[in-house]
Amino acid sequence: MPGSVGGPRILLRRLREVMAEPESAQKRLDKIVVLIAANMVAEVCSVYLMNEARELELSATEGLKPSAVHATRLRVGEGLVGDIAAHARPLNLADAQSHPGFAYRPETGEEIYKSLMGVPILRSGKVVGVLVVQNRTKRHYTEEEVEALQTVAMVLAEVVAVAELIGDEPGDPDLKRQRPFHIQGTSFAEGIALGHAVLHEPRVHVTKLIAEDTELELKRLEQAVYALRGSIDDMLETEDLSHAGEHREVLQAYRMFANDRGWLQRMLEAVKTGLTAEAAVERVQNDTRARLQRAADPYIRDRLHDFDDLANRLLRQLTGVTLASLSANLPNDAIIIARNMGPAELLDYDKERLRGLVLEEGAPNAHVSIVARAFGIATVGRAEDILEHVEPGDAIIVDGDTGEVYLRPSQEVIASYSEKARFRARKQEQYKAIRGEPAITLDGEKIDLYVNAGLQVDLPHLEEAGAEGIGLFRTELQFMIASTLPSLRDQIELYKAVLVHAGDKPAVFRTLDIGGDKMLPYMNLAALKEENPALGWRAIRISLDRPALLRHQIRALLTAAAGRSLRIMFPMVAEIAEFRRAKALVDKEIARLEKFGKEKPAVLEVGTMLEVPSLVWQLDTLLPEVDFVSIGSNDLLQFLFASDRGNPRVATRYDFLSPAVLSFLRHIVKTCQAHGTPLTLCGEMSGRPLEAMALVGLGLRRVSMSPAAIGPVKMMVRSLDAAKLAAFMEGLYALPDRSVREQLAAFAEENGVAI
Ligand code: PEP
Ligand code: MG
Repeated sequence: MPGSVGGPRILLRRLREVMAEPESAQKRLDKIVVLIAANMVAEVCSVYLMNEARELELSATEGLKPSAVHATRLRVGEGLVGDIAAHARPLNLADAQSHPGFAYRPETGEEIYKSLMGVPILRSGKVVGVLVVQNRTKRHYTEEEVEALQTVAMVLAEVVAVAELIGDEPGDPDLKRQRPFHIQGTSFAEGIALGHAVLHEPRVHVTKLIAEDTELELKRLEQAVYALRGSIDDMLETEDLSHAGEHREVLQAYRMFANDRGWLQRMLEAVKTGLTAEAAVERVQNDTRARLQRAADPYIRDRLHDFDDLANRLLRQLTGVTLASLSANLPNDAIIIARNMGPAELLDYDKERLRGLVLEEGAPNAHVSIVARAFGIATVGRAEDILEHVEPGDAIIVDGDTGEVYLRPSQEVIASYSEKARFRARKQEQYKAIRGEPAITLDGEKIDLYVNAGLQVDLPHLEEAGAEGIGLFRTELQFMIASTLPSLRDQIELYKAVLVHAGDKPAVFRTLDIGGDKMLPYMNLAALKEENPALGWRAIRISLDRPALLRHQIRALLTAAAGRSLRIMFPMVAEIAEFRRAKALVDKEIARLEKFGKEKPAVLEVGTMLEVPSLVWQLDTLLPEVDFVSIGSNDLLQFLFASDRGNPRVATRYDFLSPAVLSFLRHIVKTCQAHGTPLTLCGEMSGRPLEAMALVGLGLRRVSMSPAAIGPVKMMVRSLDAAKLAAFMEGLYALPDRSVREQLAAFAEENGVAI
């Protein structure tokens, strides 16, 4: 009974020796096939490698006619070898010639060999060749022998890749990562960034393939999988903030895969064939990738991403590479590349070194995008397959205006973008020049331009942008970047800094808006494991159910504003009763101040966000009770359209410049005007010049936006005839069109409005 001599481990050791010899690649390959044939007790061992014409070229053989080497070529799908390559899976045939796929090649002299076992040679999940052994007898190769040959094929993949023996194939992942590459994504935050790629979750490159101590490797693998399972359970338990950008669904898929016994078993088997734990993870990952990549179903291909991420996590577990150790070595012009991330993860990076952000997924109104805009970080999202094409350290250009990403750009692209960056700088100069000028339309309408802020680092922007106040201070950001609940003193300090910075200008503090995608890792919000977090226990709902937290915050605000003007605003109010209950807490805190004889704010205004549609239909009753309202268009419109702002599949499905949105907003504006209640819009739409133009056209006179948007919006305002636009827009509200963006853009164009 034939069988392998000494098993795969001995063979791997011998292969390592051959790999270390100073030989030409061809000689090395010739030696390797002899070794494999002897070890597997096979009369034939052949290596077919993919050449530039995408044919499988016989590149070395023991047993077939030497004259066939580099002469015999098979197309992918042709013959048994082509079949193995086409399906990226092994074939194990005792009687190969009776197989329907058998293609006889007389020049090889293979007619005398009955049995055949062949495996794909895979690199990064792509087929780069086929390794075959053959015997004269009708031999039944065992499963262990197939496993062993697959392990050898993995080592061989390294040999041929290093020696550059495989052809230049466009799908080759290594080559993919060398050529210039352009991706059209979606603009998440404006700006142009030229810099170098940093992977948010870097790939681990396995260099040590062959194990020295298999028992030890088995133990390492088991421990790493155990730790991986634990960390995923933890993430699911605590909804770890650093993973807030990932959907629960993804985490659940991770958990399912991580606990899959088959996965672990396959990896353990691979170690038993002589690989290191790391190499075994990669081997099994290669097989999985090859199998899943063939799937036409996009859902299954998405799961491949999950599986890749998981294998990467396991490799990091094994190699001890931590993400923290990586962010410490950030280059000065870092452009972060990630599948997706939560706002806190972005805040973890050193802002001084951050130029741009590229996400494979994400949505423009997700909080990570808002934070990126606040920081002025050029951001492109939905950059499909970027992770497959990028190498850490690659030169990269991010065009946050058009949503384009250029990987390894050519000199021409670099030159043209350097010019574009200069042009932007000139534009910035123009914005600076009008910084001190008021935002007044051509027909004399004054528009108040405010900034959105949330951190101490945002404060200088108020002055730099030439804004007239802070329309939205997102207090939750302080809570999100802290590792523990900020103390009363911390809160007072920040609020004081905001008020000092704002001076005479108004600043509107929004009370804690957590929940949804804004998680606090140190709060045990176990109940937040929700099917629909955006519609769940968040913002004012948490504050009213846990009033101590809100009272604490109100106390901090009142203390910080002693003797000054203070504006407090509540998020996600859905009914008047909620506003009343929250306002009652303010009154209680005021009473407390009086009781202790402490100084009160000189002026106190209390208002609410308008971001739940139900509240719009209570305005007539609500408005007499509030000092001001502010439209949170990000949430309001996601609820209006029932379209998740954070879900890339639907987030941009509906256009905010639609008759539905514009007439809805106009209704709010008119009602507020009738009651004389000050109204602001502080969602992201106010920061885009065309959208801002439409808002002015429907009657809004105060908008709050990211600081970088103030310049462009002010330019727009100063070139606009508001009355003419309002009259023009009268013809839009009742249109059946899904979008009136084009009509508005045409108006801007014809009337010389700077968009
Ligand atoms: C909004 O919903 O528009 C808003 C300003 O609040 P946030 O984006 O913080 O949810
Ligand atoms: Mg909101």
